Amino acid sequence: MSKEITSRSADYSQWYNDLVLKGGLADYSPVRGCMVIKPYGFALWEGMRDVLDKKFKDTGHQNAYFPLFIPKSFLSREADHVEGFAKECAVVTHYRLKNDPNGGGVIVDPEAKLEEELIIRPTSETIIWNTYKDWIRSYRDLPLLINQWANVVRWEMRTRLFLRTAEFLWQEGHTAHATADEAVEETLRMLDVYADFAENYMAMPVIKGVKSPAERFAGAIDTYCIEALMQDGKALQAGTSHFLGQNFAKAFEVQFSNKENKLEYVWATSWGVSTRLIGALVMAHSDDDGLVLPPRIAPLQVVIVPIYKNDEQKAKIDEKVDSLMQELKRAGISVKYDDNDNNRPGWKFAEYEMKGVPVRIAMGARDLENNVAEVARRDTKEKMSLSLDGLAQRIKDLLEEIQQNIYNKAKAYRDDHITPADTFEEFEKLLDEKGGFIAAHWDGTTETEEQIKERTKATIRCIPLNNKPEAGTCILTGKPSTQRVLFARAY
Ligand code: AMP
Repeated sequence: MSKEITSRSADYSQWYNDLVLKGGLADYSPVRGCMVIKPYGFALWEGMRDVLDKKFKDTGHQNAYFPLFIPKSFLSREADHVEGFAKECAVVTHYRLKNDPNGGGVIVDPEAKLEEELIIRPTSETIIWNTYKDWIRSYRDLPLLINQWANVVRWEMRTRLFLRTAEFLWQEGHTAHATADEAVEETLRMLDVYADFAENYMAMPVIKGVKSPAERFAGAIDTYCIEALMQDGKALQAGTSHFLGQNFAKAFEVQFSNKENKLEYVWATSWGVSTRLIGALVMAHSDDDGLVLPPRIAPLQVVIVPIYKNDEQKAKIDEKVDSLMQELKRAGISVKYDDNDNNRPGWKFAEYEMKGVPVRIAMGARDLENNVAEVARRDTKEKMSLSLDGLAQRIKDLLEEIQQNIYNKAKAYRDDHITPADTFEEFEKLLDEKGGFIAAHWDGTTETEEQIKERTKATIRCIPLNNKPEAGTCILTGKPSTQRVLFARAY
């Protein structure tokens, strides 16, 4: 099985596609840039969704749903917003097809032209703030803390399964506040929720930071992000949280009367993570034999495979497995007994390795006589013979150990790939030979950032929130700088 996967060293991109397709996560679709999310991939998304949804509710948010279609005029109400999204909008112009009287098959009915064209939402600020106008009257209506789980469409030119698709699934939080301070606090709170999720569930270390103006969300005052590093040394923006100021409130006339009975514009945030996180998970941890999934996110945590020669042996194994399964389930562990006799154990081992199931238990007739089972962990490929007594507890501990080990490994790699550069030559050399984040001085201008991008394909991923001030000179222009920022080539 492993032979079918391209190795990371041979072709990292192909390796990634092989894992997504052969790991059963997704398929290509007839429409370029779209994808079919298969049950195993969707189970991963559901797992992420459940954890995040709980975190959103624990921080006071409620779910709602807004329409897929946005009147075209809404988009242009906020100037920066339309400028940023115009070039990737799918537009609905007609609402009916008909048979071509000239025999050309089914065509768009020219008579069914919409009076106002509709945009398929690339993000929902406009339709939501148009609604908030009716929901917010006084300070008593604030804060308004809403999240929506939805699909959005951005007509991306260069797409890649999960990481960048034309249609993607995501959640988008949209909150309204009485003061700027409260809105900023919310923006940072949700950034922390994302960082906590990435690190403690996805086992993926992230850097929290703020974007440079060039990378800011269209319509935001500030865009905060979490940035992760993939195994090929490229960065990935894994989530964003925007402080929108009063931009959308002004565009949609959303005012509230404050305690002094004076009208004020409302302050806003929005924040989102998408199915890109599945791509991040694959790229951050997996190896040349398949997916490596952190136990807290794995759709299946433990698989048990019986090894037997006859029915009598099988019956004994079944009995043992039955009680072990009950114990594991009681401990909150998801477990499957794969006794399908159409496939040989070796085939199953390779299959579950490919799927990244964290723990595999092989239960053989001889093992049973010795009161042991062979336990294999996916992350290190280590095999152990463990006593059946107290096995469920051992497996529980082992899953935690695997979770921690996957995180530590990714963190060691990430920490080893944050390198300072003081000259442009050094910067270019690091990008080509080592990759990862490069901490360099920048003069703070968009022109310089663009020139660096043109020459090296590296962008400013973020200005880390925990940055220490440090006087220096810009690697490109030599102008003064007050701090290093993190550059990288990115997905
Ligand atoms: P944004 O609204 O641009 O801040 O994006 C919100 C979230 O969606 C971020 O976490 C992005 O990484 C993610 N995202 C943006 N564009 C895409 C895309 N084409 N495919 C998948 N995820 C995306």
